[in-house]
Amino acid sequence: MSISQFFAINSGLLILAVVILGLLIGSFLNVVIHRLPIMLQTSWQLECRLLLSEEQGIEDLNCEPSEPFNLVAPNSHCPHCQHAIRAWENIPIISYLFLQGKCSNCKASISIRYPIVELLTGIVSGLIAWQFGLGLPMLAALLLTWCLIALTMIDFDHQLLPDNITLPLVWLGLIANSAGLFTNLPDAVWGAIAGYVSLWSVYWLFKLLTGKEGMGFGDFKLLAALGAWLGWQALPLIILLSSLVGAIVGISMIIFLGRDRQIPIPFGPYLAAAGWISLDGSLDMAVICLTSQTTPSTIPPLISSLSLSLLNARTFFTRRTGSS
Ligand SMILES: [Zn+2]
Repeated sequence: MSISQFFAINSGLLILAVVILGLLIGSFLNVVIHRLPIMLQTSWQLECRLLLSEEQGIEDLNCEPSEPFNLVAPNSHCPHCQHAIRAWENIPIISYLFLQGKCSNCKASISIRYPIVELLTGIVSGLIAWQFGLGLPMLAALLLTWCLIALTMIDFDHQLLPDNITLPLVWLGLIANSAGLFTNLPDAVWGAIAGYVSLWSVYWLFKLLTGKEGMGFGDFKLLAALGAWLGWQALPLIILLSSLVGAIVGISMIIFLGRDRQIPIPFGPYLAAAGWISLDGSLDMAVICLTSQTTPSTIPPLISSLSLSLLNARTFFTRRTGSS
């Protein structure tokens, strides 16, 4: 009996295996979430210095990075005492519980966010395995899910959706659908185009009306990626859900937490969450209701979703600078 036959019969074991894989990937995502923005920042600074040294004819500007810093080097260490984290201290969730959330060397507390990201990745990976069963669609959906988690957390921290993740996601979605994994290729291509153009239009309309930037270019690229993965039919629901949840969370934060209205709230996490929910087959009916009817009844939901996203942008994303 092959491994695929074994998991096809024992779906419970498949889900368990994917949850464990998800926990391990979650541990790696913590590294990506922490290091990728630093790597980008360093590379932008390096480019600026190179440009300056070229323009001003200065030869001795130190443009070489001193230590390698990427997703694998240097090894993980405690930010307080530089204690190198050993393999047994790096087991998802278990190590955190065993160490009681403290560094084994200096007893500085470790952020609860690390085990939360691991647990979240494990749970949503298990849900994907349960939803799709063993096969190519499951593997592709897992890859999309992991990328969406990394994007969500990076956007949350830095209001940045790195091109290094969003642009490959667009291509991967088109490649996956060239084999018809989630939708057909024409729908995927139009999904990528419509995803980008819809938010791009909202951005420019908002900018012309108010002179402010309502959202970042990374948001367009992320919606283009979701369109490439799920097809254009999924976009109205994604925009509607993300605007609605974004507006509810934004208003709640302003009313209950006294958050300053001028502080921008990232839109990427809501797009990512709405896109992930749209992967779920149980919402297909809602997507069909919103988009596939040929009667004029499709027009009101489309208008309401667009106006909601406009309202959302106008109220909460007062200014987001930066091109990604
Ligand atoms: Zn320490």
